[in-house]
Amino acid sequence: MIQALLTIDDIPSNNTRAIVDYLNEAGIQAVMFAVGKKAEKNPDPVVYAIQHGMIVGNHGYSHPHFSELPLAEGIREIDRCEAVLDRAYGLAGVKRVYRPFRFPYGDKGGENRNALQSCLREKGFSKVNDTQIPYAWWRENGLDRDIDTLWTFDFAEYNIRPDSGFTMEDVWKRVRNPSPENGAALYAPEGRHILLLHAHDETDELVPGYYRLLLNDLLKNGVQFVKPDFV
Ligand SMILES: [Zn+2]
Repeated sequence: MIQALLTIDDIPSNNTRAIVDYLNEAGIQAVMFAVGKKAEKNPDPVVYAIQHGMIVGNHGYSHPHFSELPLAEGIREIDRCEAVLDRAYGLAGVKRVYRPFRFPYGDKGGENRNALQSCLREKGFSKVNDTQIPYAWWRENGLDRDIDTLWTFDFAEYNIRPDSGFTMEDVWKRVRNPSPENGAALYAPEGRHILLLHAHDETDELVPGYYRLLLNDLLKNGVQFVKPDFV
């Protein structure tokens, strides 16, 4: 059996509500990571996601590369986004139980990596329960000890752009690739994944309902979506 936790980055977007509606139809509960600055300006889709069963986590205030920031600024990015999310949970009328965090670009902060992990730990961020992840590289890279939420499989659909030369065909190749250079093969038997998808209107314009096309393929192939579980 292949099991997967779905994570969706960069909410809010215009397509956030449609994604949440699709996920509820499909019976999938996801962790959605919000960009603080965007959520501050446009809280409604974030509130909608919270009220419709999704867990919303922190993706930094301005979606920075953390390795390019002094430590104090990195911490400020985390705190400012956290304040926006506390407000969104308040508006939603939902008690905030979990506080997952994802570094934009998976950039864990370079030389500030350890300090940022300590900071996330001290601030009470929630670590995804990753004890079922079977890949040796996950442990070899210390990802089993980190508090932030990385991923084991990246659809990379955000690369689809009018001039990028990267198309949905390339995404399907990644989905079916039995031996990817990075991460784990999606459809290898007995896999256990943290999936990375994005809520991007630019992608929806070029491939309408891209999230539905991709996730329906996973469901058809017997992937079982697990509820977010934290330690
Ligand atoms: Zn992002």
